[in-house]
Amino acid sequence: MQVRITVSFPYEAPVSQSLFDRASAVTPGGVNSPVRAFRAVGGTPRFMVSGTGPYLTDADGREYVDLVCSWGPMILGHSHPEVIAAVQDAVARGTSFGTPGAGEVELAEEIVARIEPVEQVRLVSSGTEATMSAIRLARGFTGRPKVVKFAGCYHGHVDALLAAAGSGVATFGLPDTPGVTGAQAGDTIVLPYNDIEAVRAAFAAHPGEIACVITEASPGNMGVVPPLPGFNQGLKDLCAGNGALYISDEVMTGFRVSKAGWYGIDGVRPDLMTFGKVMGGGFPAAAFGGRADVMAHLAPAGPVYQAGTLSGNPIATAAGVAQLRLLDDAAYGKVDAVSAEVRGLVTAALAKEGVAHRLQVAGNMFSVFFTDAEVTDYDAAKTQESFRFTAFFHSMLSQGVYLPPSAFESWFVSTAHDTAAVERIAAALPAAARAAAGATA
Ligand code: PLP
Repeated sequence: MQVRITVSFPYEAPVSQSLFDRASAVTPGGVNSPVRAFRAVGGTPRFMVSGTGPYLTDADGREYVDLVCSWGPMILGHSHPEVIAAVQDAVARGTSFGTPGAGEVELAEEIVARIEPVEQVRLVSSGTEATMSAIRLARGFTGRPKVVKFAGCYHGHVDALLAAAGSGVATFGLPDTPGVTGAQAGDTIVLPYNDIEAVRAAFAAHPGEIACVITEASPGNMGVVPPLPGFNQGLKDLCAGNGALYISDEVMTGFRVSKAGWYGIDGVRPDLMTFGKVMGGGFPAAAFGGRADVMAHLAPAGPVYQAGTLSGNPIATAAGVAQLRLLDDAAYGKVDAVSAEVRGLVTAALAKEGVAHRLQVAGNMFSVFFTDAEVTDYDAAKTQESFRFTAFFHSMLSQGVYLPPSAFESWFVSTAHDTAAVERIAAALPAAARAAAGATA
């Protein structure tokens, strides 16, 4: 994608640039996950070498206040001493056994204790694996082929879930990326988010064929677009009334927006749920779980196959257990308060410069849309003036604040974002707001 940069860069990152050049020679696009390449905003991706509390330090020795938090997981900030100690203790005992271990039991018990609808849980290594396995289980349990998902919701790079065809009622999934065949996407029905009538119509059009509806519990992958009041309950009711499973993807919101994730906020009881990010404490750990009668269909208890060499890895589970145990009510209170403070500062700075914007919030997750209108679905999200975000982003970066390098991502804060970190954000905002105001498409 060609992006026109509308700010000048008074800063350089020669070491990051040389690492990026080397990376580009040996890795497609120079990165191992596309958003890291800065394609949406342009410029040199920063290669980070260390993280402490709310700060990241790049290979050029520049320090940034981190408002990405590894895309959610680092809710206690970087290098939290108790998480690091748990990891060091686990590493000293070996790194992978390929057998059951106590850490897996502890992590599963933590999850089941926090999230009431999760009666049983299976650990995996990524959110993608969790959603892929959950829809396989839903299909195996119901004996039905079709999956409903929503445009703008991201569930990892599962073939069937990359289908996100354009707007329109009950759009049939077309492969959205080369490499996904029509067969893989053909059983995916993509609907506009927050449109319960579209879901009702899909069930009417495909009686007895829909295995599950999968939705982000509160979407954060088209920017933050919370469910309208009653939407998740409507999904649950339609699923229950039509013999389908309601799968709530809490990979992003789980253990982040409350002790029990988005379920702790809206209380709508899913049949299956998926988790990742926070539950791994910065390591590759994820999970899917829910109703015991559904989970009983998984191998080896049942016929639906699912497995993983590194599933329940002892280091990842040690980090996850340590992080979850530190996440008490006080910790969530702190994250919520910091989030509110940063949101207030961002809105004030943009308003002062007369920049049309809308700050959308889901618990302590939030993002800024450069538009006046409320954003309730992906089509609306795409109408924002993202060129203003590009200018805003680079101004913040040049002043040592690291935002998600895309206008369509949630911002994340942590318990470690203290007064000093918030003051740095506050100091950077006026110039960034001016850059956004002055940006041209
Ligand atoms: N589901 C949601 C809601 C996500 O936000 C993500 C990743 O951002 C995933 C699934 C995929 O998780 P992973 O990147 O660990 O595969």
